[in-house]
Amino acid sequence: MQLHHHFAELGYEFFAHTQVQPLQEQRLVEFNKDLAQELGIDFSDEFVQRQLSGQETVDDSLSMVYAGHQFGGFTPRLGDGRGVLLGEVKDRQGVLHDLHVKGAGQTPFSRQADGRAVLRSTIREYLASEAMYGLGIPTTRALALYDSQHAVYRERPEIGAMLIRTAKTHIRFGHFEYFFAHKKYDELQQLIDYTLDTYFSHLKDESEPVKAMLIDVVQRTARMVAKWQSVGFQHGVMNTDNFSILGETIDYGPYGFMEDFNDRWICNHSDYEGRYAFHRQPGIGLWNLNCLLFAFSKHFTREELIEILKHYEPCLQSHYDELMAAKLGLSDVAQLEPMLEQLFVVLRKEQLDFTIFFRFLSRLEADKPELLMDEVVDRKAMADWLDYYWSVRNDGRDQQAVSEQMRRVNPKFVLRNYLAHQAIEAAESGDYLPFRELLKVLNSPFDEHLESDALAKRAPDWGRHLEVSCSS
Ligand code: AMP
Ligand code: MG
Repeated sequence: MQLHHHFAELGYEFFAHTQVQPLQEQRLVEFNKDLAQELGIDFSDEFVQRQLSGQETVDDSLSMVYAGHQFGGFTPRLGDGRGVLLGEVKDRQGVLHDLHVKGAGQTPFSRQADGRAVLRSTIREYLASEAMYGLGIPTTRALALYDSQHAVYRERPEIGAMLIRTAKTHIRFGHFEYFFAHKKYDELQQLIDYTLDTYFSHLKDESEPVKAMLIDVVQRTARMVAKWQSVGFQHGVMNTDNFSILGETIDYGPYGFMEDFNDRWICNHSDYEGRYAFHRQPGIGLWNLNCLLFAFSKHFTREELIEILKHYEPCLQSHYDELMAAKLGLSDVAQLEPMLEQLFVVLRKEQLDFTIFFRFLSRLEADKPELLMDEVVDRKAMADWLDYYWSVRNDGRDQQAVSEQMRRVNPKFVLRNYLAHQAIEAAESGDYLPFRELLKVLNSPFDEHLESDALAKRAPDWGRHLEVSCSS
């Protein structure tokens, strides 16, 4: 494993040197073989394992400083309170990936907190990031999970754990906000140059490279949020410190994947006002970009910044339309809006499962509507929608091929909250089999995995209203 330390070269205004502090009796319980191979990381190498888990000093490992808008309010100094960036590694194509340990112990940015993560939240992040990867959504990834005999206190004593995750970068919107808010304009410029050189070098020959980079960030963010909406993913804590400058989904806490359709759904029980409710995510993405662009107020006029932001909405809308049309098997988006509007009314009223409905639709044949009718109370509303749907979908294409195509974009498996809950309970008692079985189907959620059919089903009654919160 060849560790690089490019970020560390930026200097002490950008981070504090920190080492991973191992947990008591920590154990490597899972590592991601495919990802490890891609990154040239050999887990059978004792020295590599020791480096990754904090038993060996890593020169230049560090915790980053950043700020962030949290639930609408600005916190001028946050930083990695429990995270350590070990360094960067190159994949086979020469692309850099950060290696970051979460739950690594206290850092200068921990404030009053313990710097640790519990097994529950670590498993939740592992599963969610790999599920998103399986769905083809830009995301950080899980490389390895360690559990321990280390007690970590939340609402109750829990098992301490660490996650090693990878990301194209850990630079967040909040990094730029930090330097701007503290009037550290030289460092802000240094960060901008670094980001441009390291991640947006293809834009360096543009007449205005920084502007081109920002437009790219706006569009990446728009596409990320469009993808979330298309699979029913709710992030739960869309603070600007949880938004990557590269448009990767990052920091999985009290997230959720929609089960019964409800576009007003609030997955995070600590989000009392529903700021990050499902239907608000597109607007919050824009709000966050606005915060990011404010940090560029010395670079551009207000009008220029507004022009940059204007790239958001059309990009999000067109990408979302494309994704939803593919989910429905339509050849174009002409009828999409009224069709979705009418469909969502039915789904909401009937409380149909978002994932199961679309997968079902990708198996449905025009002359067998009863298969769907048996699932609903208001048969007329469903029948009306189906008539409308088939009149648009049936446009002379080979419908079997359309169905097959639909199954490549409508997953059979999604990370249901009760499944994560079961995997966590088992892992807490030392049994990682449910976690592994779940991981397997989430990694390729469009495949049938007939032996794991049970994992594609709706939650039983006990699992329908489990609460998740910011506690992690
Ligand atoms: P999050 O909501 O998990 O993205 O965290 C927001 C901020 O709180 C980040 O700066 C984290 O590093 C910090 N933080 C969260 N949990 C802990 C913890 N247990 N110990 C120290 N810092 C934490
Ligand atoms: Mg965070």
